[in-house]
Amino acid sequence: MKHTHTLLIICLIMGCTNMINKPLDKHPLDKSEVRKLTLDNGVKVYLLSNPDFNVSAASMVVEVGSLENPSNREGLAHFLEHMLFLGTEKYPDVDEYSTYLKTYGGYSNAYTAGDHTNYQLQVLPDGFEGALDRFAQFFISPLFTAEYTAREVNAVNSEHQKNIMNDFWRQRRITSQFAKDGHQVKKFGTGSLETLGDITREELVAFYNNQYSANRMGLALLSTHSLDEMEDWTRQYFSDVKNHNLERTKHDPIVFEKKEAFRLVQIDPVKDLRNLEISFPIPSTRHMYESKPGRQLGFILGHEGKGSLLSYLKDKGWAQTLSAGAGPQTKEYGMANIRIGLTPKGQDDYKKIVLATLDYIELMKESGHQSHVYNELKTMAELEEIYGSKGEGMRRAIQLANESMMYPLEDAGRINFIFKDNSKGTFEGLLTHLTPDNMLVVLTAKGVETDQKEHHYQAPYSYTENTEFYQTLTSTSPRDDFMIAEANPFIPESASIPDREIKENMLPVSLINSDGANLYFGVDHEFLRPKGVISFKILFPDDIMTLKHRVYLKLYAACVNESLNELGYPAKEAGLYYSFREGYEGIFLNVSGYSESAMTLYEMILDHMVDFSITEDQFNGLKDVVIRNYQNFSLSDAHQQTREKGADIFNHVKYSWEESLPVAQKATLSDIHDYGNTLYEKTFVEGLVYGDFKESDARRALRIFNEKSNTTDIKRKDAFDLKILEQSKSEEIQYIGKLSVNNSCFYREYVLGNDTPEMRATSLVIGQALQQPFFTEMRTNQQLGYIVWSYTRNRDDTYYLSFVIQSGAFTADDVNQRADDFIASTPKLLSAMDKETFQQLKESAIEKLEKKPMSIGERANKFQTFIFEHDADFQRDQKTISALERLQQSSTIELLSNAIGTDTRRMVNFLMFAEQHENTTNAKSTFKELKTWKASRSYK
Ligand SMILES: [Zn+2]
Repeated sequence: MKHTHTLLIICLIMGCTNMINKPLDKHPLDKSEVRKLTLDNGVKVYLLSNPDFNVSAASMVVEVGSLENPSNREGLAHFLEHMLFLGTEKYPDVDEYSTYLKTYGGYSNAYTAGDHTNYQLQVLPDGFEGALDRFAQFFISPLFTAEYTAREVNAVNSEHQKNIMNDFWRQRRITSQFAKDGHQVKKFGTGSLETLGDITREELVAFYNNQYSANRMGLALLSTHSLDEMEDWTRQYFSDVKNHNLERTKHDPIVFEKKEAFRLVQIDPVKDLRNLEISFPIPSTRHMYESKPGRQLGFILGHEGKGSLLSYLKDKGWAQTLSAGAGPQTKEYGMANIRIGLTPKGQDDYKKIVLATLDYIELMKESGHQSHVYNELKTMAELEEIYGSKGEGMRRAIQLANESMMYPLEDAGRINFIFKDNSKGTFEGLLTHLTPDNMLVVLTAKGVETDQKEHHYQAPYSYTENTEFYQTLTSTSPRDDFMIAEANPFIPESASIPDREIKENMLPVSLINSDGANLYFGVDHEFLRPKGVISFKILFPDDIMTLKHRVYLKLYAACVNESLNELGYPAKEAGLYYSFREGYEGIFLNVSGYSESAMTLYEMILDHMVDFSITEDQFNGLKDVVIRNYQNFSLSDAHQQTREKGADIFNHVKYSWEESLPVAQKATLSDIHDYGNTLYEKTFVEGLVYGDFKESDARRALRIFNEKSNTTDIKRKDAFDLKILEQSKSEEIQYIGKLSVNNSCFYREYVLGNDTPEMRATSLVIGQALQQPFFTEMRTNQQLGYIVWSYTRNRDDTYYLSFVIQSGAFTADDVNQRADDFIASTPKLLSAMDKETFQQLKESAIEKLEKKPMSIGERANKFQTFIFEHDADFQRDQKTISALERLQQSSTIELLSNAIGTDTRRMVNFLMFAEQHENTTNAKSTFKELKTWKASRSYK
């Protein structure tokens, strides 16, 4: 697969529509309008108005990042990013901003990258002006109070603690050590107590004044409000941002120095990973967006079809996955890299893989610029600009703000769609940097030789230079099996705007409702895109569920996906998406994208589903991945492991990784073939075909499933369904456990009640009302940890109120006590809330339910949930809205008091202790043996 670079999260499906420079640049139903301007103080502004948006969003990017940290203050830029949230002169209260956003159904976030920092918010349109007023103050008059400066260092430290055991962060940190001496990239970016512990308010103020300046900022506003209104607000609220006329930041374009040696870094990871990453530093390609050499490189080198590098490596039994790409990291430099998921054999033969990769690169150099590749990328970009769903909200705001600052303002908003230069220069120029003397290879695998430890992560690694192997790498030549990607048969040829009327409130209809299938079909009259969704859930008989079935289904799905890969890859390149997934409830098969070729792809998938074809080597490779995923689970984040324990208690069937592991280890390719051959003997299918399709397409989709799988129908009630723990009376269930990671986790769930419109309404309001106070108290004030969440949720018909805190510094039982104190105070908190705020919470919840899908895919998703999870009750949200309109503060308080009251609560409490934490209060589990206990309980 090709990939984009991590810090610039640029999503292909986003972008914008304006700048009419050819007849059809946007879909006729796209009501968006764009205005771009530069304020007198230098802030570059991108305004996007669209009456169809559900939410408003803003993003401010500042061209200052971790690379600007003073050398004696690692992490300062990131710390400052945190501090801007904690009070301004105009709004001094520490949680005023977040509370305001929550009240108007919104939230905010920020991230610090190497060369920029981005701040974002999303809120319902009524709250937008007030949010902008508060947000602008971040850049005008932050307080940086001494009190919160001292406290918030702990939050940054917790964030680092959370990253310490994360292999992605470790590898990033270790490889940056090989940058040339004096380069900013060598510094530790995130910060910790060690680097920030003694920081003062004065340092923050100095950094802010020396680095933050209006002329280094880009702002994007997206809303239903008019362009004129948004322009007025921009001028009113952001004109006071000070312009210090600072020069643009500068970074040395040479990151690594060339050397005539094979440079190898070996990392012993936390999890059982096995990867090879081959990197080449390159000059930045940011300004080459009209020809996109990095995308071309990713397309060819990351291809997975016939003749590709990955196909070759798989054939040799060396690799399972490969992704490649090249892109800018700053405006001065970038990186081209190839990341390969290795088999054990590939680990042994990693040098041969490096050589093969350089041989493939040699083929690329000899073949030069590929016009057909450029043209396919261009065609897909043109189609996506018109027919794609560009989304809304915070994610889109981030991208638009970043593009406004990083690219010429006239092109901002459609950078991904611009293909104006099909000349060979930039691509061939990029390839000249892919040479062995400009290469760093990182081998990550358990047990590799290491002799050093990175200081901040304590991560073991080694570094060697080999001049002999380097000589081998200097004489490369293409191999016979190699080929540059052929023309893609899936590229849509006749995509156009479907000739249909626009109609509102069109619902899918039931085509078949019988033993064996429940099939719905609907035509899109809302978006008029030549796109559609085919979505099937395949259920199996109730008695199929065993440990072996569970593990085999996982392996089987991996086999089908592997078998599909060479064919499925070009489909994905052509705007067709498919997924073939498994779960306790069965198999989920989804195909979406351009309807012209979606049905062809669907049929292809069925062929592989009933008869997959992979080699013994491929099977061993993917089995190895499944096994390592099981083994690695005990090393994932504490909160993930702890919430996974929820399923142990709440679901009637749940197999742990420990019991699944030996079954997977013993499985052979022929076992899984046999299993696949009988899997579809009896099925029930739930299906929805929606979008730019005909009714006959839907019927055909089900018919060919039946034909190809040769299945026998069962009734829906005889299919396997997950059953959920019944908690009919007051009780406290507790689960105590030990983790082998460096964080403890507290996780608690209270039953709120059963599904009714009133329950849904109350649960929405309680969830919104508690989120911010819980976060402020547990994270901002008590600094228990970086992950502090509260939310309401449902499992089938039961609604729950949940709390999660992950802590490296506090033990699970300590956190439990602190959370307990807070939770006991929540009814009072709700009583103290003024009437207007309560009313606003209700209105925000209503607006969220009224949120309209933005694409055919989102619409289909929503219908699917109504149809298959709520008995085709399409009025469900309307009923919740009516209940919200009637909802009283007093009944909300009563429900909450009852749910958490010590005599009335139905509570499940999970306390998982970090490796280094002791259970000093001697907290005990409710049960001695989980399975026996579960057998004594009722599940429905
Ligand atoms: Zn942070």
